[in-house]
Amino acid sequence: MIDLDLTAEEAAFQAQARAWLAANIPSEPLASGDTREGFAQHLEWERRLFDARWAVVSWPERYGGRGASLVEWCLFEEAYYAAGAPQRVTQNGIFLLAPTLFAFGTEAQRERVLPAMASGEETWAQGWSEPGAGSDLAAVRARGERVEGGWRLYGQKTWCTRAAFCDRMFGLFRTDPEAERHRGLTYLMVPLHAEGVTVRGFGRLDGDEGYAEVFLDGVFVPDEDVVGEVGGGWKVAMATTSSERGLSLRSPGRFLATAQRLCALYRERPRPALRDAVVDAWMGAEAYRLLTWQTVSRMMDGETIGADASLSKLAWSQLDLEMHRTALGLLGPDAALEGSWTRGWQFALAGPIYAGTNEIQRDIVARRILDLPR
Ligand SMILES: Cc1cc2nc3c(=O)[nH]c(=O)nc-3n(C[C@H](O)[C@H](O)[C@H](O)COP(=O)(O)OP(=O)(O)OC[C@H]3O[C@@H](n4cnc5c(N)ncnc54)[C@H](O)[C@@H]3O)c2cc1C
Repeated sequence: MIDLDLTAEEAAFQAQARAWLAANIPSEPLASGDTREGFAQHLEWERRLFDARWAVVSWPERYGGRGASLVEWCLFEEAYYAAGAPQRVTQNGIFLLAPTLFAFGTEAQRERVLPAMASGEETWAQGWSEPGAGSDLAAVRARGERVEGGWRLYGQKTWCTRAAFCDRMFGLFRTDPEAERHRGLTYLMVPLHAEGVTVRGFGRLDGDEGYAEVFLDGVFVPDEDVVGEVGGGWKVAMATTSSERGLSLRSPGRFLATAQRLCALYRERPRPALRDAVVDAWMGAEAYRLLTWQTVSRMMDGETIGADASLSKLAWSQLDLEMHRTALGLLGPDAALEGSWTRGWQFALAGPIYAGTNEIQRDIVARRILDLPR
């Protein structure tokens, strides 16, 4: 038996979150968080969330959270997106690095990094991809050379989301060129405003300066900014990918809200030929919600997500694309004049690429879940 009813405590938490969001969401939409001006506006909003202790609800109170359960976190996320609240420009820190620090970081690292991350005082970019390392992440060539008290880094990272505006970056670096390629990597936290770093922002298809390339030329990273073990970075990075693909980066709230907007659009502009697609979208969002609740239940029982994260990633990225395609179909030629669905569709096109491409996810599902031969 699965009991999907909320407890009285969970229902009270949900009501409190909804009430705060309804009273506090900015009345005017903010500029895109992928522009310098919009990023600053979003950080002001994130500060308000933090001050009211809604920024990182599931974290322990000492780091700025509420010690909420993962179920309550899901409820908060649903309320957040249903209310139309601004995108989280702190996402790479709070949804990717933070879960990794909870699993692999030291207490000193958590104390140093997490409160500043939660308040938006210190913002984080993800530095994994390189010109020669994308799907094949273990091909990373940016390297760390051992020096007294830490590491000096050399090389190039690319496709770093919002790094042009961020303060720090977490990334994978080759620290032992002699070791087997998955073993010679170390996970490091790198300052972006330090000597030896050049950050070059560049535009996306929609014109926003959403990405940056990061060039490293001898920047110093102290030993206390190594996450996990030296040479053990691959294992730490795989924990980050579980959060990115499977739970925290793309919670069901986002897609449930899109499905609701799609149903509303259908009511305004019904096109019987697309009715089934709208219903499929709504069911897909509900199914992804149930899949996530299943993951959450397992995690609350102490399990880790593992390869199942790839199934989630396939589900949310395909669903997002299908919902936006259906919306453009409903809008017909007016789609060219309507901004938000078109921009959403452009971003949905990237879903099967970022967080590891869907071809790679299918490969992981085939080998690690279905046990098919290579
Ligand atoms: C919106 C967006 C945001 C991003 N943000 C970040 C970020 O913040 N930080 C960061 O480090 N990176 C980021 N990335 C980069 C992203 O992680 C890479 O684009 C992705 O991992 C794919 O790598 P690639 O672009 O080098 O493509 P490639 O690895 O060159 O792949 C090209 C094509 O070949 C296919 N392919 C490759 N290998 C195989 C295989 N073995 N089997 C079957 N098919 C295969 C791929 O699926 C893909 O279709 C972002 C990307 C996007 C689109």
